[in-house]
Amino acid sequence: MLFGATGDLATRKLYPAMLKLYEKGNIREHFAVIGTSRHKIDDEKYREIVEKSLAKESSNKKMVSEFASHFYFVTHDVTNVSHYANLKAKSEELDKKYSLGGNRVFYISMAPNFFGIVAKNLKTQHLLSDNGGFNRLVIEKPFGRDFDSAKQLNDELSAAFEENQIFRIDHYLGKEMIQNIEAIRFGNTIFEALWNNRYIDNIQVTLAENLGVEERAGYYDNSGALRDMVQNHIMQIVSLLAMEQPVAFKDTDIRQEKVKALRSLRVYNVAEASTNFVRGQYGGVGNSKEYRQEDGVPKDSNTETFVAGKLLFDNYRWSGTPFYIRTGKKLADKFTRVDVVFKKPLVDIFSFPQSGSTPLNANVLTIFIEPNQGFSLMVNAKNSEQGFHTEPVNLQFLEDSKRTKETPQPYERLIHDVLKGDGTNFASWPEVASAWKFVDQIRRVWDIQQPMFPNYIPGSMGPVSADELLARDHREWVYKLNK
Ligand code: NAP
Repeated sequence: MLFGATGDLATRKLYPAMLKLYEKGNIREHFAVIGTSRHKIDDEKYREIVEKSLAKESSNKKMVSEFASHFYFVTHDVTNVSHYANLKAKSEELDKKYSLGGNRVFYISMAPNFFGIVAKNLKTQHLLSDNGGFNRLVIEKPFGRDFDSAKQLNDELSAAFEENQIFRIDHYLGKEMIQNIEAIRFGNTIFEALWNNRYIDNIQVTLAENLGVEERAGYYDNSGALRDMVQNHIMQIVSLLAMEQPVAFKDTDIRQEKVKALRSLRVYNVAEASTNFVRGQYGGVGNSKEYRQEDGVPKDSNTETFVAGKLLFDNYRWSGTPFYIRTGKKLADKFTRVDVVFKKPLVDIFSFPQSGSTPLNANVLTIFIEPNQGFSLMVNAKNSEQGFHTEPVNLQFLEDSKRTKETPQPYERLIHDVLKGDGTNFASWPEVASAWKFVDQIRRVWDIQQPMFPNYIPGSMGPVSADELLARDHREWVYKLNK
């Protein structure tokens, strides 16, 4: 059952993802979708909407139309309790027609203020099947705007669904290379044996966007980069990088370790938050508008479009090894990457006085998440010139463009996981709660301090303060613009 079936997410992402699952045979005969919204349309019109959204996805019209024939529409206002009777009748009818065994997925692709009310009405209006089939609830982001609102939402959801029935979408967890973090760490002795504060100097996570707020100004100005990117995507990536090895590669064990990691993340006091986090807002240059001039943004907005921060874990593995994170809009390029900077050898035996040798570099493992998918390892080697000089060389594996194109998109993976009942790549409530508790402290400090905005130019890598954050620790970002 899809709530918000005529919306942007459904038509741009969810129908194409479901079509891929259909093409690959992951869903075939035994599936039906009831789309709902307040639109007054019938099944035929709805199928046209679905097919139109798939125009670029496949040239196989017959297969697309077979796929669309599994879609049914019920006009429905989620706030009107009496409307749920139609949904119930339709789901019982389709359950029989497609032999679904009572298995139901409720996907709420609507504004977050509806999440709680839909969950409640599904339960009170008896939409949850009770004949042995599964009931699973899929929730889009954002999950609250601080800990208190997230907890309230979670309480509402928990009144109707068990935690293992709730799938909180964080589409970054559906990305190929985010999932690869676990393979790289736990599948390779050469990394996992060194994956701690004895051998790693610092870890850097960068989620850079080159666009501004575009059409999302209304939403974005109420949110800002801290809530929009750090609380969810970045905290999820950090927890995968920081967690201990799970007992087994299964959702309950992985979640347990991610939560343990997040709980040992130091929640900052006012002084620490002011020192360890910096924010920015883009200015204008040439034809590129400054943030405060964007349509829908108040002229005196203090919403941050950039965040950089230092995260510290107070645990045996990571004490003393900072994680630096940054994300922002209108930056130099669009990419996501993780740089793991190892410590340099304690003694550099190659650095003879007057030899002209450059000092050894730190080994850096870079995980390219997007747009390139792969990783590289920078190692020191002897160069081939006369004498004995070392130089950094790069061992690199990048997926070729064909393989990248064939890689399942996040929503395809995540919907498939929901159907399998695998919660590995979804955010559990304890993870969400810990992430909010950390982020709320930064927000509290920022809400009482007046920023000096705008403070960075489009096409840069953010404000100077983001570089100073690392310079203070005698470090620098691995990815920087060539000046
Ligand atoms: P949207 O385009 O505004 O779609 C909202 C849908 O909800 C429409 O189908 C709308 O249809 C329906 N709706 C609104 N009020 C309703 C009501 N009272 N009863 C029944 N249906 C109602 O929103 P969206 O962009 O698809 O976003 C959906 C969710 O995904 C949000 O939580 C958003 O934060 C999240 N998300 C979206 C994107 C994206 O790229 N769009 C990305 C990440 C996350 P009617 O008006 O006809 O009722």
